[in-house]
Amino acid sequence: MKKIAILGSTGSIGTQTLEVARENKDIEVAGIAAGGNIRLMERQIREFHPRIAAVWTEEKARELKTLVHDMDVKIVSGMDGLLEIASMEESEILVTAVVGMIGIRPTIAAIEAGKDIALANKETLVTAGHIIMPLAEKMGVKILPVDSEHSAIFQSLRGGRKGEIHKILLTASGGPFRGKKKEELRDIQVEDALKHPHWVMGRKITIDSSTMVNKGLEVMEARWLFGVGIDDIQVVIQPQSVIHSMVEFVDGAVIAQLGTPDMKLPIQYALYYPERRYLPGERLDFWKIGHLDFEEPDTETFYGLKLACEAGRTGGTLPTVFNAANEMAVSLFLERKISYPEIVETIEDCMRMHRTIQDPTVEQILDTEAATYERIQSRR
Ligand code: NDP
Repeated sequence: MKKIAILGSTGSIGTQTLEVARENKDIEVAGIAAGGNIRLMERQIREFHPRIAAVWTEEKARELKTLVHDMDVKIVSGMDGLLEIASMEESEILVTAVVGMIGIRPTIAAIEAGKDIALANKETLVTAGHIIMPLAEKMGVKILPVDSEHSAIFQSLRGGRKGEIHKILLTASGGPFRGKKKEELRDIQVEDALKHPHWVMGRKITIDSSTMVNKGLEVMEARWLFGVGIDDIQVVIQPQSVIHSMVEFVDGAVIAQLGTPDMKLPIQYALYYPERRYLPGERLDFWKIGHLDFEEPDTETFYGLKLACEAGRTGGTLPTVFNAANEMAVSLFLERKISYPEIVETIEDCMRMHRTIQDPTVEQILDTEAATYERIQSRR
């Protein structure tokens, strides 16, 4: 039996993780945590019988307790709740599928408790990779990527050794606005940006994909996961989203992982690594695909990608500023309070005003996050 706990069980990755658990009969879900969707949590508790369930506010925790009063489950709340789930004795793998930097402390707690991490919550590595990766190494725990591109790289790396990597080729679909120029982004509305050409995901990451900020976050995530420099990662637009990423080795050989856009593959791969299991669903039909295209990203129009590489090269607290500014700007855009181009403008403004602290502690990272939010609020 594989014993797992999930942070963000009601989200896009969380629910697909539970689908994987449903389809494989040997996964026990020991704990779940979510923000506030208690109706869905109730259904998840009744189906998967976790020992602990965490919701963010005490009020929601009380409501959930009432909903599941007939079940043998402990309901907890707040950061303490997330930490309890992250380090609970009954689980071996923590799936981190919350959005944002709220994942940092639980991820650290889980590693300290010796749990392997199936990592979807890229913001954690982007902002605290310098703490998380050495800690994971010290504790002998695995950080297993769930992000499809990073899973593809991870799978491709089975074709060679780490010291033999020449370059990582991180693919991107280019999002719904590929081919547009800067002037054409002015009038983009929330509905337009929420239409990803291939993947169905949570709202924040869908907007991030459209601005290519997501690809920027993925560059920083890859740098920590695979121990390479920012400039050893090349972003390649692959509009069909068939190649999920590739590794070029020192002898020029390129090894790629291809597949249909189904997050259950990387989720299942992370949970059972190094084993491969049968996964039902659509398969690639190369006769139908016919051809694959490749392009260079337009970093003049989608300069969020350029800013991310700059933040990654500088390191320290700058990736936190990039990430926090983006998080707040995306919520303001979703609330229709700022325009689409203002998302990346906000990131740039916050980055330019920031004095980077190198090698920050978790407290300094969280302070930087708070200061970035304050800066954006004070300018509105
Ligand atoms: P969703 O928005 O779909 O889900 C977010 C989850 O986090 C929900 O379960 C939500 O709970 C929970 N959550 C929010 N706030 C809190 C909180 N304070 N405490 C506990 N739980 C909370 O996001 P995604 O699944 O799309 O993304 C999750 C992570 O995975 C992100 O970091 C994203 O970048 C990454 N990722 C996602 C991919 C995808 O295909 N979706 C692909 C690759 C990476 P509730 O709904 O109850 O509020």
